[in-house]
Amino acid sequence: MCGIFGVYNSPYASQYAYLGIYALQHRGQESVGIASADGEEIYAIRKPGLVLESIKREDMFYLKGTNAIAHVRYSTAGDPGGLNAQPIVRDLSFGKVAIVHNGNLVNYVQLRERFEAKGIKPRYSSDTEMFLLLMDEGQYVPEGVDIHIHDRHILPRIFYMMKEAKGAYSLLILHEDKFIAVRDPYGFRPLTIGKKEGALLFSSESCAFDILEGEFLGEIKPGEILIADRFGIRRYRFPHRERIAMCIFEHIYFARPDSFIFGEEVYGIRKELGKQLAREDDVEGEVVVPVPDSGVVPALGYSEERGIPFEMGLIRNHYVGRSFIEPTDDLRNIKVLMKLSPNRSVLKGKKIIVIDDSLVRGTTSRRIVNMLKRAGVKEVHLRIASPPVIGPCYYGIDTPTREELIANRMSVEDIGTFLGVDSIKYLSLEGLRKVIKDPEDYCDACFSLNYPVLEKETCMQRV
Ligand code: SF4
Repeated sequence: MCGIFGVYNSPYASQYAYLGIYALQHRGQESVGIASADGEEIYAIRKPGLVLESIKREDMFYLKGTNAIAHVRYSTAGDPGGLNAQPIVRDLSFGKVAIVHNGNLVNYVQLRERFEAKGIKPRYSSDTEMFLLLMDEGQYVPEGVDIHIHDRHILPRIFYMMKEAKGAYSLLILHEDKFIAVRDPYGFRPLTIGKKEGALLFSSESCAFDILEGEFLGEIKPGEILIADRFGIRRYRFPHRERIAMCIFEHIYFARPDSFIFGEEVYGIRKELGKQLAREDDVEGEVVVPVPDSGVVPALGYSEERGIPFEMGLIRNHYVGRSFIEPTDDLRNIKVLMKLSPNRSVLKGKKIIVIDDSLVRGTTSRRIVNMLKRAGVKEVHLRIASPPVIGPCYYGIDTPTREELIANRMSVEDIGTFLGVDSIKYLSLEGLRKVIKDPEDYCDACFSLNYPVLEKETCMQRV
């Protein structure tokens, strides 16, 4: 769960990268970084915190060049502190390289041990550095791939990296005057392409092109490599793959609803999830109330399908930053109250159907239900627009360990009792698959435990 943004061929590369990554802030709030290249040197800044607070005007003067890559981080592997902020820059045997990564490698532990055994010491504790070390380690040319003359020193290294790295990765790379975009063969994480005047733009989600008044062009496909330099743009395909496995959770929760990813509009899918949930439900209720913000779009779909009025029964305070209040359970409750308030005018004495996008630990939902009851709601019927989350994610989404997942510990009935609701219902897995075009090309392992790629050691770390 990170955001990446890149600019190729613009005199405003670092400024565009700054604005682009700002539009992806929802994908990570721990740290931000930008690297730029002028064909000779790579310049990089990495800072903890949010984009607007952390990047200063003078940083823009330092970030010279016409190519840039940027990153917002939400740590899923490695130390969440500033040390692992991206872009990562390293001097390698074939020159200096900067990289940003969205995803998670499942064979990180094995790769790290392999390099350490060879006397190569990784400088960071995140998996992203492995891509650079792999590029330095070897070269590989798949049979039948014709390599353009200007890519012969770099592309075999990227193919080798893709052969050795297992898991989820959307990458943007700066090397000399080259700009390189890579998506893993499973296509776990999205990577979209846009343009603005003569510049090419790359983004985890298409919503970031709008802030630049850019134009959406399409997507880097699973297993695709795009190389841009002064000789033009070349696109290659890594030929080995078992299947495509795009993350269904991007549509359910992560991506912004105004984005286009995996060949579909997120808004349309999210609304259809609510409609499908409604088709599977017949509970009686007077109003449909979303848990803002992620429950809003499925709640619209649910309300439309069942003809029950949609009301903003919970109001979100948008000015809540990081709270230092965390230490006790009682005070954690205050954090929810700081974020959401009950709107009594639409709640009092009513039977309400509350819609949320997903239910992971259940602790926040329990506090919300408590808040609604105190506001005078007669009955709370909780509806979840995705199936029960029963397995952790190994591909870059920060879901908790299996023990912390409420649906893994309790039956649906017991979850309802724990949360204090009058009834609870999840969207069925079949219903979820019905909503998506080509469901066989999606990973839904956190709902089905059908993991597309795993290394034993990775499971041991998380489960
Ligand atoms: S396990 Fe779940 S969150 Fe992780 S990639 Fe698969 S669908 Fe997405």
